[in-house]
Amino acid sequence: MLSGGPGSGKGTQCTKIVNNFGFKHLSAGELLRREIASNSEYGAMILNTIKEGKIVPSEVTVKLIQREMESSDSRRFLIDGFPRTEENRIAFENITGAEPDLVIFFDCPQEEMVKRVLNRNEGRVDDNIVTIKKRLIVFEALNLPVINYYSKRGKLYTVTV
Ligand code: UDP
Ligand code: MG
Repeated sequence: MLSGGPGSGKGTQCTKIVNNFGFKHLSAGELLRREIASNSEYGAMILNTIKEGKIVPSEVTVKLIQREMESSDSRRFLIDGFPRTEENRIAFENITGAEPDLVIFFDCPQEEMVKRVLNRNEGRVDDNIVTIKKRLIVFEALNLPVINYYSKRGKLYTVTV
C-alpha cells in the first residue's frame, strides 16, 4: 500500500514501482473517479464527497478495490491512496480478510503538496485551492492513526519527499 497527502507523488511513484516490480496498480481515487464516470448508483454521492474533499464511505471504496482484486490475474497489488482513515483500514481487513505486507508513506511538506496539485492540470474537480485546503485538513486529521498502526506492526516505510 502507498499512502501520502494530496499531491505527495503517490500516483507518479506507483507507475514506476509497477513498471519495475510487476504489481497490479489499484488507485482508490481512480477507481472512485471511474465509478462516477460509469454513472453507477453511487456516482453522484462519490462526486459530492470528492468535491468536498471528504472520505467516501469505507464500504463503497473497499468493494471497488475488492472487485478489482478478484477480477485480476495478479496476486500482487499496489494499492494507492488507501486506507485514508482507521475506519477504511478496518473495513478493508474485515471485508477482504487481507492485510498489506508493507506500507510506504510519502511524507511531504504541505506547501509542496499545494503547489503540485495546483500545477498538475489533470482537470480534476478537487484540484482547486478551496478543496485542497479541505483535503489537507482531512488528511492531517485522519491519516496519522493509520500510519501509527502500520508503524507499530513493523510494516511502515516512510519516504521524506
Ligand atoms: N478518496 C476517498 N477514499 C479513498 C481514496 C480517495 O474518499 O480511499 C477521495 C477523497 O475525496 C480524495 C479524492 O478521492 O480527496 C482523491 O483521491 P486521490 O488519492 O486520487 O487524490 P490525491 O490524494 O492523489 O490527490
Ligand atoms: Mg492519486
